[in-house]
Amino acid sequence: MNYQKIVNKENRLSKTYRPKNLVKIEPKVKGSINPNRKILVEQETFENWNALVEDAKKQGFEFYISSGYRSYTYQEKVLKHYIEKEGVDAAIRRVAIPGTSEHQTGLAFDYFFVRDEENHYDMLEDDQEYQWIKNNAHKYGFIIRYPRGKENITGFNYEPWHLRYVGGIATYLYENNLTLDEFVLKQQKRLVLTK
Ligand SMILES: [Zn+2]
Repeated sequence: MNYQKIVNKENRLSKTYRPKNLVKIEPKVKGSINPNRKILVEQETFENWNALVEDAKKQGFEFYISSGYRSYTYQEKVLKHYIEKEGVDAAIRRVAIPGTSEHQTGLAFDYFFVRDEENHYDMLEDDQEYQWIKNNAHKYGFIIRYPRGKENITGFNYEPWHLRYVGGIATYLYENNLTLDEFVLKQQKRLVLTK
């Protein structure tokens, strides 16, 4: 498994790409999450997420995953749905073109937190829960994949609720304020220079 795999508009995944070691998560039953819905993520990603969740609990914070792996076929279905509903232009702005979503790697997911029995899907800068994620997720191998101020580099709007597992390089990225795109580009340049 390549935990640094980059997926974006230039680096698309094929229709058949599906990570082998996906594990099933029990969705949160209480609240608005549909208990019958399947949530899948890659195994090492899941193990590290569990470690994060356990440590967060000690701080009084409660985190859950709302959306994990999304297949190519699923992405196609969603796009088709919005094209029929809103037309091509609006649909393309709203949803990712199939193959360009990081959710297809199983290494990325959207999370939410629960406070006072309520689910919070939108993260505000002031939320203690979000501050904790921002400052600690890297210790478990996660990065906020689409940070504020890097929209031109990632090609995505700021998404505080979207985490990506990258493994050991997470702390390096965090300390140097780098996106995965910038890191991969750096690596490629270094390869060219040392050839
Ligand atoms: Zn996401």
